[in-house]
Amino acid sequence: MSAGIARTVRWRAAAEVLGYLRHHPRPTRADLVRDLHLSSSSATEITGRLRRARLLSEEPAPTSGRGRPTTLLRPHPDGPLLLAIEVRHEQSRWALAGLDGQLHDMHTHQHSSPDPEHVLATLTDTVRQLRHRHSGRLRAASLAAAATVRNGQLVQSATLGWGPVDMSPITAGTDLSFIVGNDATLAGVAEARTGATANTRTALHLLVDVGIGGGLIADGRPWTGATGAGGEIGHLPLGDFTLHCPCGATGCWDLEVDGRALARHLRQDSPTDIRGYAYRVLAHAASGDTDAVAAVHRVVTALARGTAGLVNTHDPTAVSLGGLAVPLRSAAPHLFETVYRNGLMTFHRQQPPPVLDAAHGDLGALHGAAAIGLDHLTTETALADWHDSRTA
Ligand SMILES: [Zn+2]
Repeated sequence: MSAGIARTVRWRAAAEVLGYLRHHPRPTRADLVRDLHLSSSSATEITGRLRRARLLSEEPAPTSGRGRPTTLLRPHPDGPLLLAIEVRHEQSRWALAGLDGQLHDMHTHQHSSPDPEHVLATLTDTVRQLRHRHSGRLRAASLAAAATVRNGQLVQSATLGWGPVDMSPITAGTDLSFIVGNDATLAGVAEARTGATANTRTALHLLVDVGIGGGLIADGRPWTGATGAGGEIGHLPLGDFTLHCPCGATGCWDLEVDGRALARHLRQDSPTDIRGYAYRVLAHAASGDTDAVAAVHRVVTALARGTAGLVNTHDPTAVSLGGLAVPLRSAAPHLFETVYRNGLMTFHRQQPPPVLDAAHGDLGALHGAAAIGLDHLTTETALADWHDSRTA
């Protein structure tokens, strides 16, 4: 065995224990022994190593009847931290996460200008301050953006009004790992790991905001193709071919499922605040405005048809809906169900994949960014690096 492998292999079981910590709220050492099929002596050895490496802390668990006394497992108070960031049109948000994946110290910054230079400067400053405040503990930044991501770079975003933008200056000159992902895809990761579709091997997430994103999540990982730009389901040609999409293609599904579609159906100008406009139309529909109801029904139909097509394509165990897709479906649940079933191939209709509302709500992208970032922080190599940096 080479020295390099010997250095990391001893962290394999530790990585598994830390993975367990993220997917089980407040676990005890007894849970660990049972669920990971560990002997109690190896659980003692692994948790001891994790405590000494300042990755885990243990405290006596409240006794519950007959069971032997055990301990509650928590992230170590001096353990590694991850910064999860979400860049949206009007604001950026960020939060810290420890090894249990819980978000804390959340901040929201309203953009005084949506220019990439302004957003980059704000985030670079944030990273600098947080590194100073948590000396040595901040190990990675994981960014979710309303943009197409390719090879770790933002390549285009109609939502942000950005062309290609290199976000890596945020962590330049630091030893932080930096990870970038699409916001809707990461929201799907959060649902598949700890949300509506948790414990399914193959999940489909559909998030409507400005357009529709999400895509397929297999074993908790997004299917993003050769360069990371895959999963752009909003640019499937399920729409009107006379309409030009800001992405550069024509007839995109994006244009059929959000506030732009509602405005077209109501013969109004395309709104500047596409999301806010959609919620206003939904409110009018709820109060019985027949034009608004008809517009909402057309959009719900477009949403349900595409959902069925993607179920035929990917054969997911379950589907989760996020963002505007949730109130759209609940505005016309029977219509959604009928169009969805009619769009399925016959063999799917006996037991169609359930379509579930997202569990993480508005925080899905941040939770997903944290989840992918923590994957990087809990590899055997990253744990060995952390251990060496703490004992150097
Ligand atoms: Zn498009």
